Amino acid sequence: MSAASSASIRSSIISRLRAAGCVFAEDEARLLISAARTPADLTAMVDRRAAGLPLEHVIGWAEFCGLRIAVDPGVFIPRPRTEFLVRQAEFLAGRAAGPGENRDRVVVLDLCCGSGALGLALATVLAGAELHAADVDPDAVRCARRNTSTVGGQVYQGDLYQPLPATLRGRVGILVANVPYVPTGEVSLLPPEARIHEPRAALDGGQDGLDVLRRVAGEAPGWLASSGWLLIETSEAQAPLATDAFSRAGLIPHVERSAEFSATVVMGTMPPT
Ligand code: GLN
Repeated sequence: MSAASSASIRSSIISRLRAAGCVFAEDEARLLISAARTPADLTAMVDRRAAGLPLEHVIGWAEFCGLRIAVDPGVFIPRPRTEFLVRQAEFLAGRAAGPGENRDRVVVLDLCCGSGALGLALATVLAGAELHAADVDPDAVRCARRNTSTVGGQVYQGDLYQPLPATLRGRVGILVANVPYVPTGEVSLLPPEARIHEPRAALDGGQDGLDVLRRVAGEAPGWLASSGWLLIETSEAQAPLATDAFSRAGLIPHVERSAEFSATVVMGTMPPT
């Protein structure tokens, strides 16, 4: 194809995306063009995006912590803000391994794993980590299995801790969970990409958004190693109630915030015995 005609295809895609309300039309056009295998493929992808499907579902992947994470249609798309949680977990993993133990052998558990992005990112930076992940949604589990197969991740399907092998009890050094935390009454305010194309179970956290967080925190002490940490992302406003839930569960809570990522992470560890 001539340079002139590929430039005109690009500019017609950009105007089409802009008309459909895509704010980052230039970037999206570039990604769609590089993802399409044939001109017909490109047309179909632009149609799907213009009809409102999230870009990540159209091209089939999202970038997270510098990795390409496969995201199938109907699977929660990892958010850039959640990279902050991964950084906190990476920092804590050095301590979670415990004195004399090798930081690289830390056991990572990713609950509500969705595509498996958090677990994969952690297993990648903590080379040699033992990765376990779980999600209630079979589509997410399929996607997470694909994403984590290169790092030997074990992915289980079921409700929170229920599908996990009992042998994991008391061994988890880093327990991460990007639980659904949008209050039920605010789900309707989410952008249509999330509201229509992501599973409601991955977003709706109940009346105050903390239902799943409370359940994860409540059972965490049974699974954490003595020096292990639980880390969960919340909204800024939810941090005080989330901290209470951690304390009630018997964890010592701590909150970290990042203006750069606009992210809040509540983390907790067990009291020294
Ligand atoms: N809309 C929220 C976000 O973008 C959803 C996160 C969640 O519920 N895990 O962060």
